[in-house]
Amino acid sequence: MTLELQSEPVSLGGPNPHLDLRTQFPALNQSISGHPLVYLDSAATALKPRVIIEAVTSIWGRDCANIHRGVHRMSQRATERYESARERIRSFLGADDAREIVFVRGATEAINLVAHGYAMPRLGPGDEIVITGLEHHANIVPWQVVRDRTGATLRVVPVDDAGQVSTAALKNVLGAHTKLVAIAHVSNALGTVLPIQEMITLAHDAGAVVLVDGAQAVAHRPVDVSAVDCDFYVFSGHKLYGPDGIGVLFARRSLLESMAPYQVGGDMILNVTFEHTDYNELPHRFEAGTPSISGAVGLAAAIDFVSSIGFDWIEAHERRLLEACLEALGTVEGVRLIGSPAQRSGVVSFVLRDVHPHDLGTILDGEGVAIRTGHHCAQPVVERFGQVATARASFGVYNDLRDIDALIGGIRKARELLGQ
Ligand code: PMP
Repeated sequence: MTLELQSEPVSLGGPNPHLDLRTQFPALNQSISGHPLVYLDSAATALKPRVIIEAVTSIWGRDCANIHRGVHRMSQRATERYESARERIRSFLGADDAREIVFVRGATEAINLVAHGYAMPRLGPGDEIVITGLEHHANIVPWQVVRDRTGATLRVVPVDDAGQVSTAALKNVLGAHTKLVAIAHVSNALGTVLPIQEMITLAHDAGAVVLVDGAQAVAHRPVDVSAVDCDFYVFSGHKLYGPDGIGVLFARRSLLESMAPYQVGGDMILNVTFEHTDYNELPHRFEAGTPSISGAVGLAAAIDFVSSIGFDWIEAHERRLLEACLEALGTVEGVRLIGSPAQRSGVVSFVLRDVHPHDLGTILDGEGVAIRTGHHCAQPVVERFGQVATARASFGVYNDLRDIDALIGGIRKARELLGQ
């Protein structure tokens, strides 16, 4: 199977941006073990296009100043770019108010902020936190800490044999004691897309607030926090073709206003004496210390980048890659797919009979093919499928069908090498 994506008909929606897309990613211009790099690990982190690298270096190379406190020109420019980035993220997420956008280090920090700033002071014995069985550790461990410190109960909505979490299953777990529901928008291990809209409605009907972990969603599908009516939405910049060290917490303003700061120090204050501190207004109250200014500016550039391609194209492109990958893997003897969710993003987990995923990953690396192997920081769901580890291929805008060919060729080679 060697199909060229460049020959795709225009049915992908308008002119095909793929023609020059790959050339925009400098990291793709390298060889690994003598093979051109085939990058199939975008669910771990996405490669960065030149425009984003340039946005970041323009902060360091020109507007290199601390924000909010400076009267000098460079500081004013940096502040303006940092706050414009916040506004750009507000419009990307469909939030009403830029004060609802808090810059954090990533999805992990955002969930910790909600766990410590919202849940910890409010929950107690008898209260329940609900998560699903396919969450990333970042959306499990903070709730265990809340459970252990408050005496609340942590309940888990089961995953079915296809790797899905149904609204009916959620309904069974929700009850009068549910105070908070924390769910992934898209599973990083299986690619399952959860019906977050219906789940949010059910959780609200039960009187709970909802946090959606959008780490695996924002680069692949449009998100509108107002339309789905969630209370918290979190994501990381680095999976959205943006910098690492930057992420976003969207929080409904009324909730944010009622929350205590998670970290304290400079920039989040209005007035400090040794006796007392008045905290700053939203969202600065939640951004203690010098933030990642280059990260915020790079993230805004990343949003411009994906918006210029458009989610119509991105979704159609990744669906085509997904279908091709599933079909091709089905032709390789000994490959078993893990999960078969009906609603699925560009993530495929699989195992090869009698081969440890790490060995497979190492052989593929020798062929220039980068995939992820392990439990993907989602150990419970991997174990739910009777595995300790899987191999995972995941897609970004730069992948094409030749990358799938290379993956399949590499797996066949691994079988040969291992005498299968
Ligand atoms: N949630 C999901 C679904 C993820 O895939 C990840 C990253 N693998 C995270 C949360 C945590 O993101 P980060 O490590 O960028 O904080």
